[in-house]
Amino acid sequence: MNLSQRYLRGRAVPESVRWVTNQNSRWGSATPAERTIRLSDKLIGMPEWVVDYVLLHELTHLLVASHGPRFWAEMAGYADLERAKAFLDGVSYATSRGLPAGTGSAEDSPED
Ligand SMILES: [Zn+2]
Repeated sequence: MNLSQRYLRGRAVPESVRWVTNQNSRWGSATPAERTIRLSDKLIGMPEWVVDYVLLHELTHLLVASHGPRFWAEMAGYADLERAKAFLDGVSYATSRGLPAGTGSAEDSPED
């Protein structure tokens, strides 16, 4: 599946898409002048519709630089848009509160 073809009528054509380990506060970034996209390795293991949202978001930045109405209009065809944004907001919130990333906790286990 090609996200650019599916949602952006093929107009966003990246030169490269790379996973990077050094993005601590952003899920992804794009450099429109070079048509390069970088995705945080913190996305690895998240649901596919979340990773696709971030990739589509950065692809859209190759067409529209700012987060204005035109930007969101380009992405409007992505059904999981609001859900993916909420998911990532939740992850950011939990991380900022120092909540563990995993489910469950060691203290719930019996002592023996
Ligand atoms: Zn953005």
